[in-house]
Amino acid sequence: MRRILWFRRDLRVEDNPLLSLGGEVLPIFIFDTNILDKLHKDDKRVSFIFSRVLRLKEALKTKGLELRLFYGAPADIFLRLSKKGFEEVAASGDYDSYARQRDLEISHILPFNTIDDTYIFRPDEILKADQTPYLVFTPFYNRAKSLFGKKHLQEYPCLQQDLYETDYEGIFHCTQTEEKSYPIDLSSLGFQKMPLLLSEPAEKLADLAKRLDSYAKERDFPALESTSHLSIELRFGTLSIRELLRFLAKQKKSGAETEAFFRQLVFRDFYAYLLYHFPRLETENYKYTFQGIEDDAKYEAFCQARTGVPIIDAGVRELLQTGYMHNRVRMVCASFFTKDLLLPWQWGEKFFAQHLLDYDTASNTLSWQWSAGTGVDPQPYFRIFNPYLQSKRFDPKAVYIKKWLPELNSLETKSIHDEKALQQHQLQGYPHPMLDHKLASKQALEYFKGSLYLISLHE
Ligand code: FAD
Repeated sequence: MRRILWFRRDLRVEDNPLLSLGGEVLPIFIFDTNILDKLHKDDKRVSFIFSRVLRLKEALKTKGLELRLFYGAPADIFLRLSKKGFEEVAASGDYDSYARQRDLEISHILPFNTIDDTYIFRPDEILKADQTPYLVFTPFYNRAKSLFGKKHLQEYPCLQQDLYETDYEGIFHCTQTEEKSYPIDLSSLGFQKMPLLLSEPAEKLADLAKRLDSYAKERDFPALESTSHLSIELRFGTLSIRELLRFLAKQKKSGAETEAFFRQLVFRDFYAYLLYHFPRLETENYKYTFQGIEDDAKYEAFCQARTGVPIIDAGVRELLQTGYMHNRVRMVCASFFTKDLLLPWQWGEKFFAQHLLDYDTASNTLSWQWSAGTGVDPQPYFRIFNPYLQSKRFDPKAVYIKKWLPELNSLETKSIHDEKALQQHQLQGYPHPMLDHKLASKQALEYFKGSLYLISLHE
């Protein structure tokens, strides 16, 4: 069979199901203008993807294959390729609304073979007895654990495949009316090369091996750097989820505590699963009609790390400077954004989407819905984090806060967790808290109660 292997969220040769299909193949990567045109020209993710695509190109050469690079709208590119006698396009599944619409469109041009690669479970693998999807994580997790077996650890071999020869050199740009070849350089796409200080997946795994036993206890403490930082690798498939699971199985065999980490991976699956079964969750509340109150000034203060609430500003600084934010801090920031500031969760989701290197529609959208209280989890809307208690508990010595807000170095640690002390500080250049947390929470609760009306996605 002659097929196009479309690499997307699986930028690797190891354990990649696309490479075990056999036949005559054309491996491709598309720099998709529908996505790139919406990004800032200094977007760090484009630098990351570009460097990993080049690596993939080199790695495929060692297998006798050549990755061809395209730049344009996928439909235009496949219309052109459809004239070359291909029988199918094979690609790993991608479940956000844009990806689904795009793949549907491509399937009208060429038969589309969706391969399961990105997640542990297929989206239809874990269903309730009545064959409907789970909405609550714990029963989903219990079922996932009972179904988890050897097949989820399967390693896909790289089979001998014949290369379909083409003359698509460089970065091949094509629209409906013209085609042109550009040099293989990020500037050909109009983007700046951004510095990225990221370690390799293998180093991250070696590091994780040392931390697994303490992961459950330490994962909520941002200063301890005790999490894996693997989210970006899983997002772009530079590490296979099955390789990670095999690593965990090996660690477990040698006596390491792996359950807490495995649980987080299942969380990632759960969010993708929910988005697959309920696509509307990407933009719409699952429950309650409240939408938040649009306020540009509050939004700007949050995005510029100028709320005067140290744990929030530290988190936003970390995000802006590195493209990463620790999970506990993401939760505290999202609660502050949707409850204290009463801003629409969609605004916060968009801000994170713009800056997170590991940005993933499912994890981001559903985490924001969780924080806003509008999502599927059974907790009602009145869970509101106190940012001062959170920082006191999870960053007691303010090590994380001071790392990102060095202007607070001269403040006593206890003052950093104390709203009253912060309202009186004399520091130059750092604002006083923009609101009174107790009052803001009270107002939020009143607002939520006032617009309380339950909705459901089930038609
Ligand atoms: P580790 O603690 O080492 O976890 C291992 C892996 O499990 C992660 O790499 C990730 O793939 C998965 N994972 C861990 N925690 C979660 C979680 N709560 N939900 C889903 N998967 C999880 N994660 C993203 O990958 N992309 C996002 O866009 C994203 N947006 C988020 C937005 C908000 C408001 C919140 C509260 C969380 C968000 N998360 C997102 C989940 C989580 O914060 C990150 O996955 C985690 O911080 C990544 O760091 P790590 O790899 O060191 O995690």
